Amino acid sequence: MNPFSIAIHGGAGTIVKEDMTAELEAAYLKALQQALDAGYAILEKNGTAADAVVAATISLEDNSLFNAGKGSVITKKGEHEMDAAIMEGKMMSAGAIAGVKNVRNPVLLAKEVMINSRHVFLSGDGAREFAIKQGVKIEPDEYFFSQFRYDQWKAMRDSDTYALDHTQQGVDNLMKDKKFGTVGAVASDSFGNIAAATSTGGMTNKKFGRIGDSPVIGAGTYANNKTVAVSCTGHGEPFIKAVAAYDVSCLVEYKGLSIEQAMYEVVHKKLIALEGEGGMIGVDAQNNIAMLFNSAGMYRGMKKSTGEYALGIYKDMIK
Ligand code: ASP
Repeated sequence: MNPFSIAIHGGAGTIVKEDMTAELEAAYLKALQQALDAGYAILEKNGTAADAVVAATISLEDNSLFNAGKGSVITKKGEHEMDAAIMEGKMMSAGAIAGVKNVRNPVLLAKEVMINSRHVFLSGDGAREFAIKQGVKIEPDEYFFSQFRYDQWKAMRDSDTYALDHTQQGVDNLMKDKKFGTVGAVASDSFGNIAAATSTGGMTNKKFGRIGDSPVIGAGTYANNKTVAVSCTGHGEPFIKAVAAYDVSCLVEYKGLSIEQAMYEVVHKKLIALEGEGGMIGVDAQNNIAMLFNSAGMYRGMKKSTGEYALGIYKDMIK
């Protein structure tokens, strides 16, 4: 069997050890491990990279520790609006959804769009209608609720800003806990194909209808077998302006950089210049993995069939 590998992230931001309890850290590590295992199990059985990134992303969406699916952040209007995307690198097929409510696993809906619609990107009511038609599971509003996200939102709802925008005056006082909890996965399968998926609730107190980078192909999610599969997390607006994921691919394709070098350029130079805080994970068809961020931390993990394995939250790997 040819080698295969998977990497995941659960968001980046001001994640520092001082703010973390041992219990919470253990809960995050367990959740990351479960997601890695879910994706790896698919690859081990000769499954596709696309199915592996979906399985890993579902595992993270179902865990309210992360800002995707269950536990998504709350919009200015007090609702949940979720975005997700998937792309596979062989045919460069892609599916994305934005501003969707009540869909239990937005990444599954993105996959439905990729496979069973003639479109790439569906939004709002149309995406929801498509979810119902395709039998994608719908949940009541309560399913997505978490006290932590509600408290975050309550502290901000009367302001005209959205959380995690570190440049806004006053937000830091309101938001001690600055995190981008988007989730994502990238994988390379034994057939030499790669894929990426990203799923998010967006940013706390975001305007009704605001769409971040996560579902935008080329910004938060991208895959091309010739170059790299990338999933991003961070302040979406600069990631969109930087066309961040595609820029990594371009640097590999046109400049011949390794994925680590290409990602370094984008995360530590281009995004910094645009005040874009966050990070990304990537894999190429040769099973090279990169996981870089310019924030204090990023929930992340990777596992290769060749034996390499790592889990991290802060700058240094924990396992
Ligand atoms: N990138 C996401 C967005 O801007 C947020 C995140 O990564 O947590 O919607």
